[in-house]
Amino acid sequence: MTTPRSWLAPANDSPFGLHNLPYGVFTAGDRPGRRRIGVRVGDFVLDAGAAARAVGEPSVLLDAGSLNPLLAAGRPVWTEVRAALTRWLTEEAHRGDLSPLLLPLHAVELHLPFEVADYVDFYASEHHATNLGRILRPGSEPLTPNWKHLPIGYHGRSGTVVVSGTPVVRPHGQRKAPADAAPSFGPTRRLDIEAEVGFVVGAPSAMGTPVTLDGFREHVFGVCLVNDWSARDIQGWEYVPLGPFLGKSFATSLSPWIVPLDALEHARVTAPARDVELLPYLDDRDEPWGLDLAMEIRLNGHLVSRPPFASMYWTAAQQLAHMTVNGASLRTGDLFASGTVSGPEPETRGALIELTWNGENPLKLPDGSTRTFLENDDEVTITATAPGPDGTAVGFGEVTGRIVP
Ligand code: MN
Repeated sequence: MTTPRSWLAPANDSPFGLHNLPYGVFTAGDRPGRRRIGVRVGDFVLDAGAAARAVGEPSVLLDAGSLNPLLAAGRPVWTEVRAALTRWLTEEAHRGDLSPLLLPLHAVELHLPFEVADYVDFYASEHHATNLGRILRPGSEPLTPNWKHLPIGYHGRSGTVVVSGTPVVRPHGQRKAPADAAPSFGPTRRLDIEAEVGFVVGAPSAMGTPVTLDGFREHVFGVCLVNDWSARDIQGWEYVPLGPFLGKSFATSLSPWIVPLDALEHARVTAPARDVELLPYLDDRDEPWGLDLAMEIRLNGHLVSRPPFASMYWTAAQQLAHMTVNGASLRTGDLFASGTVSGPEPETRGALIELTWNGENPLKLPDGSTRTFLENDDEVTITATAPGPDGTAVGFGEVTGRIVP
């Protein structure tokens, strides 16, 4: 099957062509304050609800202020809506009606596209977990004994998930370095990033019924980019024995475009070889859901890392299966993130604590300054693309945030 061509010619050579069609929520000057669902096409945003009305097709799921109704509708409807959007943007007959409903990207403001229900963050990169183990627990085995048997995660704070571009206020808290006699209180001195990939749950599941690996496609609507901002000094003092808490919960940033899972068929890869036998509910030999996303991290515009998502040990399908294996139910809008994406090479690490090896090897920036952790006014931007059909690329856009005091 060849990629359909749009009458919107520039979109055909874009990472946001008809093979992608990511969903977001926007406001624009023609109807100020009114949140609407938008679909990105090239460097334009299609007002999706208005488009459905213009072509005389059912618009109820697209005529909403968030993606939640569409998320809740489930896989068969997602497929139908995607096919309809493709048809509208392909058939010359719709050109006249739809052209006025395409707003330039720079003319819209993008918002958090769905109401985040529960938020779970994982720890799925073997390279990241090994590096952190070496940094934080030198002299002992870097991976904990459970690491290769189950995807480790924790429940995060959904209420502080914010859209890309939202300023990140440097958090205050208790900090205690190992050499300090007592904890002190104040702004974090070790503010870090974690470059991650997020998965958005659409269809809910019943309590008591685990979602198996082959249920991944039925429940997960799409994929976005996540920056899991982390205050390492607060985290380091508080995390034993119950795990991350205030060192993480102050802000988590999300990219505004949700790339449909359907757009990532060509990006699927097999996860790296596992060196222990997995329990049957995690054995994904028949359901490989590794994804070949090429990520980039920029600090004040300067490229500092290229994390390869294909190197992740645990896939999102395994994470979903593990997250529900105890019978925990899924809700529409649940978000789970992969954990920091770090590849094997130093220049592919997804957090400053690894890139600077706990501050021992500062990064040099082109303006002559150096960084161990983030300073006020620093801006971090994470982008990604994945392979699409016929040599195309699938764009994810960006998740960005600037640190304010
Ligand atoms: Mn994280």
